[in-house]
Amino acid sequence: MPENITTQLVVLGGGPGGYAAAFLAAERGLKTTLIDAAPKPGGACLHVGCIPSKTLLHAAGVVTTARDAAAFGIKFARPEIDLATLRAKGNKIVDTHASHLLELCKKRGVTHVEGRGIFTGPKLIEVDDGPEVTFDHCIVATGSSPTKLPTLSLDSPRVMDSTAALALESVPATLLVVGGGYIGLELGTVYAALGSKVTCVELTGNLLPGVDVDLVRPLANRLKSQFDKIHLSTKVTKIAEAKGGIRATLEGEGAGDLVFEKVLVAVGRRPNSAGFGLDQAGVEVTDKGFVKVDEQRRTSNPHIFAIGDVAGEPMLAHKAAHEGKLAVQVIMGEPMVWEPRAIPAVVFTDPEIAWAGLTETEAAKENREVRVARFHWAASGRASTLGRSDGLTKILVEPKSDQVLGVGLCGPGAGELISEAVVAIEMGATSKDLALCIHPHPTLTETISEAAETLHGLSSHIYVQKKRIL
Ligand code: NAD
Repeated sequence: MPENITTQLVVLGGGPGGYAAAFLAAERGLKTTLIDAAPKPGGACLHVGCIPSKTLLHAAGVVTTARDAAAFGIKFARPEIDLATLRAKGNKIVDTHASHLLELCKKRGVTHVEGRGIFTGPKLIEVDDGPEVTFDHCIVATGSSPTKLPTLSLDSPRVMDSTAALALESVPATLLVVGGGYIGLELGTVYAALGSKVTCVELTGNLLPGVDVDLVRPLANRLKSQFDKIHLSTKVTKIAEAKGGIRATLEGEGAGDLVFEKVLVAVGRRPNSAGFGLDQAGVEVTDKGFVKVDEQRRTSNPHIFAIGDVAGEPMLAHKAAHEGKLAVQVIMGEPMVWEPRAIPAVVFTDPEIAWAGLTETEAAKENREVRVARFHWAASGRASTLGRSDGLTKILVEPKSDQVLGVGLCGPGAGELISEAVVAIEMGATSKDLALCIHPHPTLTETISEAAETLHGLSSHIYVQKKRIL
């Protein structure tokens, strides 16, 4: 049996939240142990989420960029897709980063323990086939897993969750994507570019429910030509084995019985909070399964903190990393609380959609008065040079103070552009500040300054009637 461990901090879960916390704690001088079931850190994000999906989305982007080049007079032959090489490229990227993380554990003096940890007391974790770990403080960073609906659970290699879809075993001739959320649309985009006829079925009346409809529109329009079919307000109620595929029963606007070679179920994720003894440690969980935390990410056991997907929405890696670092600083006695004004969100489809701070949907729900500036990318020279003038940039400001409350973007590179918005919102900038900052020409960043300029009578490329100007 391995030797038992006594540690000042144990982090349970080695994803982007967990390892960020463990590394900072070790840098600050805490004796730190990181427990993860996988041999190398990285969590779902690195091993079966963000990084493999973005590798595949890059490959998909190459295919569509080559196809779109025809509009510029450049024609390529149909791409030959070598799945084994594509898989190997993805695996190599993941393994390089995972190995680097393991190396960083060693360099920083973090004890990495491979195994599943289970709480057996308020200050004790037992690791399967591993040591007992006694701790002063603990950070729970156990993440989330794909939601399994009983009606859509079928033990068949033809039915995939996001992890199986990322393994890219084959490119099916027909693919049903259940769920028009982040994962359904990102992975649907990948499979469509690689040659599958994709049908996407979404329960609600819109793709990406909850995201501002005007930001989703350019994506929805483009997906119409990339996907075979999109059925909104439609529910997949049943799936069953059929000859040569899976028969899916659809109810609602797209009602029918259809057979697909493969099915991807992407109907959300749920927190990993069960099965590892949180109750033994006196840690309470909400009825949705999230660990209850206060504004310092402290749980109902004052020695235990929880961060990332298991501690609440939004389930995003960068939110987890920041919470992890916050928890460590709180443990070190610093007077910190969780109070971000803007957590950026990016959907890595083509076009990308990104937003930060207040959205128009939230403002309407809260009955909050806002001024909204819109800059349609048809007026952007740079967007036209890319053949992508269907994008949109919008800025929400507080009407009296002109303070920027939120920014939304749809277009290629939106995920990179959104960081300017995060800085503006966090620094309390006004839209006039954005308008007066010189943005380089010709770039897509100008869509942010020009959107701001429309509020102050300064926009060159968008005509705004005088009465609308402050
Ligand atoms: P999601 O909540 O984004 O979307 C799930 C969709 O499935 C919803 O639109 C829902 O209405 C629909 N749905 C549910 N049951 C259905 C049924 N029976 N038939 C048809 N549609 C149905 O969830 P997801 O796409 O699985 O992603 C989970 C989480 O993972 C996201 O919330 C996000 O936080 C995270 N994620 C982030 C990124 C990113 O940052 N780019 C990428 C992937 C995942």
